Amino acid sequence: MTYSVTSPSEHLSWKEMACRDGTPYPAEWEKRALILGRAFEAIRAECGGKPIKVLSAYRPKTYNFRVGGMRASQHIEGRALDLRPPAGCPSTSSMSASRHWRRRGLTYRYAA
Ligand SMILES: [Zn+2]
Repeated sequence: MTYSVTSPSEHLSWKEMACRDGTPYPAEWEKRALILGRAFEAIRAECGGKPIKVLSAYRPKTYNFRVGGMRASQHIEGRALDLRPPAGCPSTSSMSASRHWRRRGLTYRYAA
């Protein structure tokens, strides 16, 4: 299991893309991770460049089922990020980066 880049983006690591149960993000989906990385950086910049905590990224089917995720969750496909933005970050609805990436099929949400 090898990736061709050291991280999906400047401020997002492969460790953050992995499942909480330790399953690494599938290397064959690296392109998807790079798209998420671009979205992550855009959102991070709009939040003033402060760190954003990744709560959940890739989830294998069994893990997703265990945590009560939706059956067709984008996390299973490695196309979703659950993020916790820093205090003072603009609301999701007012963020242009958020809208931009949602239109391109990225699913992510803010969780408290
Ligand atoms: Zn999610």
